[in-house]
Amino acid sequence: MRVNAYAAPAAGEPLAPTTIERREVGATDVLIAIEWAGICHSDIHTVNGDWGPQPYPVVPGHEIVGTVAEVGPDVTTHRVGDRVGVGCMVNSCGTCDNCRNGDEQYCRHGMVGTYAATDRDGTTTQGGYSTHVVVDAGFVLSVPDGIDPAAAAPLLCAGITTYSPLRRWNAGPGKKVAVVGLGGLGHMAVKIAHAMGAEVTVLSQSLKKQEDGLRLGADHYFATSDPGTFDALAGSFDLIVNTVSASIDVNAYLGLLAVDGTLVNVGAPPEPLPVNAMALIGGRRSFAGSMIGGIAETQEMLDFCAEHGIAAEVEVIPADRVNEAYERVLASDVRYRFVIDASTLA
Ligand code: NAP
Ligand code: ZN
Repeated sequence: MRVNAYAAPAAGEPLAPTTIERREVGATDVLIAIEWAGICHSDIHTVNGDWGPQPYPVVPGHEIVGTVAEVGPDVTTHRVGDRVGVGCMVNSCGTCDNCRNGDEQYCRHGMVGTYAATDRDGTTTQGGYSTHVVVDAGFVLSVPDGIDPAAAAPLLCAGITTYSPLRRWNAGPGKKVAVVGLGGLGHMAVKIAHAMGAEVTVLSQSLKKQEDGLRLGADHYFATSDPGTFDALAGSFDLIVNTVSASIDVNAYLGLLAVDGTLVNVGAPPEPLPVNAMALIGGRRSFAGSMIGGIAETQEMLDFCAEHGIAAEVEVIPADRVNEAYERVLASDVRYRFVIDASTLA
């Protein structure tokens, strides 16, 4: 099946319209008519080659929401017409210990990314900036009725990437959580941590988005450009979630952790983030990382968001404005996730 898409032809080149081939619907596959596709900063890192060479042309997009158009004969979990979502992965081995534990994202044989990855049949995956996608039913999520579908799309990456560490490190009542960077991931971290009952602080480069941050659920808001912030908040947080796409001075942020506190890095800058052991030792602190979340946990996150009435703040754009949206994300001028209306690709 030949479908319309937007692809990056080479590293650093603007995205342009193209067509791509989608595989036949196999026994366990779901054909999804894509309605919405979020723009994640990871799409930009990937197409710009920040993380290494890519199999161009690359159709990005791993925050996909649409409706089921067809299912294979062995699919029992989704029906034609259901509203569904696909996140950052479309396959994994399913048999290793990590897959069996629900951590498909850490599959020992390598999870298959939604785009720019080699699928288990040897083909290169292409993502959600497209009209249709065929995905194994085991990697297709159910989008609850209560969530606006366009605002649900970013939950498939930004939502789960922040939900997972907030859960694992017990964000909740009595816990002080700081979120570094108020972009796509950051704004979801604020909403989710607030819904979990934590006391939430935003650490942003400036106070430009303070009003928004407080409206989204933050209790406090500080500018990291003000050196006084690091003195005022020293030793105060149980958990810091760093969502920044560029390298920051991690040691300065480790100093903001209380004893036994943890700084979880979800931001994925191309450069190393040097850590001074003294910043960890002087407070029994931890520096951790976390990558998206497993499939069952992603469904749990979607249900949690529906229950708490939360989703992303989105700016919907037609596909032909994707390059402009990339520029705005790179300039930290996103409020707070761009979502492509896939009907503009038809
Ligand atoms: P985004 O919307 O661009 O948000 C990043 C935010 O970081 C910006 O809005 C800005 O917030 C802050 N920031 C940007 N440049 C900065 C700099 N030079 N210094 C300090 N702060 C800066 O990006 P995103 O989509 O949320 O993604 C964030 C990062 O997470 C990316 O690296 C992405 O690849 C990664 N990611 C990781 C996973 C995972 O599984 N671990 C999943 C998805 C994405 P302020 O304006 O508030 O300062
Ligand atoms: Zn993403």
